[in-house]
Amino acid sequence: MKTFEFRLYPNRKQRQHLDSVLMGSRVIYNEMLTHTRQVYQETGKFAFKYALTKAFAGRGKGTVPASTVQMLADRLDKALICFMRRKEADQTVGFPRFKTPNRWHSIQLRQHAVDFDVDGRFLRTPALTGGRIKIKRHRPIIGTPQTCHLVKRADGHWYALIVCELPEPEPPTEPPAPDERPAIGIDVGLKSFLTDSDGNTVANPRYYRTSQAKLRRQQRRLMARTKGSQRRRKMARSVAQTHLKIERQRRDFHFKTAKHYADTYRLMVVEDLNVRGLARTRLAKSILDAGWSAFLTILTDKAASAGGQVIRINPRFTTQTCSNCGELVPKSLSVRTHICPSCGYVADRDHNAAINILRAGAPPSGTVADRLPDEPRSPIL
Ligand SMILES: [Zn+2]
Repeated sequence: MKTFEFRLYPNRKQRQHLDSVLMGSRVIYNEMLTHTRQVYQETGKFAFKYALTKAFAGRGKGTVPASTVQMLADRLDKALICFMRRKEADQTVGFPRFKTPNRWHSIQLRQHAVDFDVDGRFLRTPALTGGRIKIKRHRPIIGTPQTCHLVKRADGHWYALIVCELPEPEPPTEPPAPDERPAIGIDVGLKSFLTDSDGNTVANPRYYRTSQAKLRRQQRRLMARTKGSQRRRKMARSVAQTHLKIERQRRDFHFKTAKHYADTYRLMVVEDLNVRGLARTRLAKSILDAGWSAFLTILTDKAASAGGQVIRINPRFTTQTCSNCGELVPKSLSVRTHICPSCGYVADRDHNAAINILRAGAPPSGTVADRLPDEPRSPIL
């Protein structure tokens, strides 16, 4: 599955249509939630997809497209299944919540409800959502469209997200030419975004820090304002806009960084960080901020289209091991330089780790990584 995003340019009338369908679908979703809770109280079982679709057939008549009502049943069905699964696994979990306007931004449509006009300048949507809406298709779509989400983002613009199923790749007819590009190990940085085994670092972009500071300031101001007030609502909108901006800056930065590595290297070895596990420690913020897992998804995708490969390895001891002689050299987080008491090797902490990562991912058996004892990873890298 791959999602293609395009900006929509609805006219004033169409915007009204979209806004009213957005509101209407939220109301129906909340009604479905009430309904399934009632059914649960009466029968001890939730109403799932088919029961919901049946109970709400025709409910959107004149206000919300039938295709969207079906997708609402789908959406709630997924939320319920997720809730039950996590409850069974004994995780603390909240019941799917009623949606307020600031938690509801998209109208979902099935594939047969949308279509591009011949020249691709318009997206044909149901009459209720405004019919033919002008669209900017800045890139071609690959695969078969499955669903379409019309999303209103914090910047106030509408976007179409087309989710496509990708075609099966054709088996190669002849063996591929040998790939001469080198392999590289990449270490997630705490100070910089990443460090590779050649000793290059990629810094966290400065504009990103600036917008983060702005976000913190705005959030403080938001909290200071009275709940339910007009001023608080306005501030909340600003916070959402800054979030959107940061998200876009980060994505852009990730794509550019990933492209460089995917073009240059045949094999990229990275740490498979258990982000959820780390989230409980004090490291969480740095790790999550750096958006490492989001980056890895993009890197993997880019590598695949460039004919390369990303390998994820267990991050255990990658920092503590000497990349020159294999000796374990414990160091706390504040120690930025690796100094080996055994062989005298000196390197930047992250560079040393990146070399270990590369070695662990290019495994002739009996490598340093293979010999390491199985120990739980400490919160200190
Ligand atoms: Zn050493």
